[in-house]
Amino acid sequence: MGYGAARQNGPYIVKADAPEWDKIYTARVRKKTEDVLKVYRFSETDRCRMNEISKYFGDSGSNKLCEICDNCLTRHLSLVLQ
Ligand SMILES: [Zn+2]
Repeated sequence: MGYGAARQNGPYIVKADAPEWDKIYTARVRKKTEDVLKVYRFSETDRCRMNEISKYFGDSGSNKLCEICDNCLTRHLSLVLQ
C-alpha cells in the first residue's frame, strides 16, 4: 500500500498508469475521509454509544439505552445528582 504512487494491495488495486487512476484515487480519499469523520462524530456524540454502534452495523431495531456506556452513565449521574 502506498499513496504516493497510487498503489494499494487488496481488492482495489490502482496503478498510476491505469486509465482514470486519479478518479479512483480521489474517490478512495473521499471515502477514507468520510470514514474518519464518522469516527470523529462517534467520539463527540452524547448519544448512547451502543445504539450508535448498532446503527452503524445496520441494526435499527432497538433504541433502548445500554446504561453502561460513558454517555449513559453521565446522563444517569446527572439525573441522580440533581
Ligand atoms: Zn449507552
